[in-house]
Amino acid sequence: MSIVDTELQKILAWPQRFDLHTHSHCSDGKYSPKELVAYARSKKVDILALTDHDTCNGLDDAILAGKENDIHIVTGIEISTLWHSNQIHIVGLCIDHHHPKMEEFIRMQYVKREERAKEIGRKLEKCGFHNAYEETKAMAGDGACITRGNYAAFLYEKGAALTMDRCFAQYLAEGCIGYVKPKWEDIPTAVKVIKDTGGIAVIAHPGRYKMNNKWLRRLIVDFKECGGEAMEVSGTMQQPAERDFLANLSSEYGLYASCGTDFHREKSYVDLGCNLVIPEKATPIWCHPKFKLEV
Ligand code: AMP
Ligand code: MN
Ligand code: MN
Ligand code: MN
Repeated sequence: MSIVDTELQKILAWPQRFDLHTHSHCSDGKYSPKELVAYARSKKVDILALTDHDTCNGLDDAILAGKENDIHIVTGIEISTLWHSNQIHIVGLCIDHHHPKMEEFIRMQYVKREERAKEIGRKLEKCGFHNAYEETKAMAGDGACITRGNYAAFLYEKGAALTMDRCFAQYLAEGCIGYVKPKWEDIPTAVKVIKDTGGIAVIAHPGRYKMNNKWLRRLIVDFKECGGEAMEVSGTMQQPAERDFLANLSSEYGLYASCGTDFHREKSYVDLGCNLVIPEKATPIWCHPKFKLEV
């Protein structure tokens, strides 16, 4: 049972620390959902969304751990899409993750991710990284959705480069030896499955797509046209000027503003729940009538 209406309004009336974009080992995060929730509590996060790449496998455990740790959980997913050859991530919040349409979509994405992961593995084998696919799978949670982030962790473990970022840049980024072009669905398909399962669609980390303003505005227009309702305005590794710019865009286009760290693991410059502020001119996503907490 989710918390709705009057009780929800009471909770949201307090100053709360929200982190609405995080990962567990069900995709490319370090922690299990249970560990992630406990870690969030230690970081004084009050309201946490788990948004693994193309899977909802961790949500039931996160909800359970939310009850044990006295922290509110929001259901979520981060769906990979293609838009004019750009890999755009769409976060879905407050979804019914057991809805048959979501389960079917996830099954389809899982097949695509497995095919791609095996192909990346074969390419890395050729560079001398034996059992790349098998070892990468073994490092993640059971049945995890494997991303290039998992392969970056594997390569780092093998000492392929000094940092995970460098492993990514040298082996996995577009044009590199281990790169495999993805075959994701388009944005309308992602938005539809999110909305059909009761959720709110959010453009993830709009500042990270290396697009100029014209293209970012085009993205927002296309996203809105198919029913998208929110965008991330506040994230980590962000200059105040970028946050301000995104807040202006969200109010100009009438999109609700979300905030999340995109936490995968501790880094010196990013931690769960830290540095998230939504400027006053933007309307926070928790004001959306469909916003709800699971526990
Ligand atoms: P994929 O969806 O399989 O193309 O993988 C995307 C994921 O790779 C992102 O969600 C990140 O977790 C990870 N990633 C992207 N850039 C980097 C980087 N520079 N270093 C480490 N991981 C990265
Ligand atoms: Mn990731
Ligand atoms: Mn992303
Ligand atoms: Mn993410």
